[in-house]
Amino acid sequence: AKAKGRNCFEFFNDKIQQAAERTAQVHLHLKNAISNNEFELFYQPIVNPFTGQIIKAEVLLRWLHDGQFISPEEFIPIAEESGLIVQIGEWVRTQAVVCAIELQQRQLPLPLSINVSTIEFWSNELQQRFLNYFDSIQQQFDLTVFPYELLTLEITESLMMKQQSNINLLLEELRRRGLNISVDDFGTGYSSLSYLVNFPVDQIKIDKSFIKKIAQGERHKAIIEAIVSMSRALDLSVIAEGVETQAELDFIKEQQIDAVQGYYFYKPMPKNDFLTLLAEQQNK
Ligand code: C2E
Ligand code: CA
Ligand code: CA
Ligand code: CA
Repeated sequence: AKAKGRNCFEFFNDKIQQAAERTAQVHLHLKNAISNNEFELFYQPIVNPFTGQIIKAEVLLRWLHDGQFISPEEFIPIAEESGLIVQIGEWVRTQAVVCAIELQQRQLPLPLSINVSTIEFWSNELQQRFLNYFDSIQQQFDLTVFPYELLTLEITESLMMKQQSNINLLLEELRRRGLNISVDDFGTGYSSLSYLVNFPVDQIKIDKSFIKKIAQGERHKAIIEAIVSMSRALDLSVIAEGVETQAELDFIKEQQIDAVQGYYFYKPMPKNDFLTLLAEQQNK
């Protein structure tokens, strides 16, 4: 009887209420996720599309809460709104550095790519904290050299939009230390291509939404072609993300794109599987 009497307005009201409750719940548990050891890093290999060889890997955060994986698509925005993303980002970078060093020690040095939220660059204080944190990892692990050259930071276009010269200074300082900067989800933001000219970056990642459209025909392929030729002109390397099919891979190869990430080759995997895979590749 209740369902019958409900009008649209009540229905949507309920939905909004449920969503708000879910957000509040996630936020509550997210606060304790680090101390409860609920986070884990997965690694997704990035390969040479011609040889299949693993050339680097993206680090992807996983949250196992009460026996269930909660998607980063859900919890990262909540972490960003609440500011928890700063501590979470630091946790991710510590673990990634630990892994990079471990790989080095096993004679499997491989660059790791880390996602960074734009929130972490939002103020001068946060920028300073971001830089200092690398020094604190170095101290914590008593490292004589810090593996900056094995790390890439993936940022999004919205950072480029922030017309703030000190973000350029920060990125330049990070590159001076040896880190690479990659523009993630390229083409999905509102940035104009001209931002790229003035922005200190090394690499772009073509968003998977463009890769998905390869099958839809020439007009969609033309977009990827344009991104690739522009990247060449600006001397940026290119990664194609979300490659799932043979047809997508064939087109990527035609475009001479030198790095590919996607389910066609590998899904993100736990660290142990990743280490095993690398060891196997090395023994081939
Ligand atoms: P992203 O940075 O664009 O990461 C790539 C996403 O695409 C990952 O989703 C990955 O699992 C997925 N993916 C890779 N290959 C394929 C494919 O062939 N097909 C399809 N359909 N998907 C593919 P994931 O791991 O769920 O992460 C989602 C987003 O959450 C990431 O998107 C990133 O924006 C954010 N994220 C993940 N880890 C972190 C982190 O440590 N810090 C921050 N700030 N954000 C993170
Ligand atoms: Ca990414
Ligand atoms: Ca991406
Ligand atoms: Ca994304």
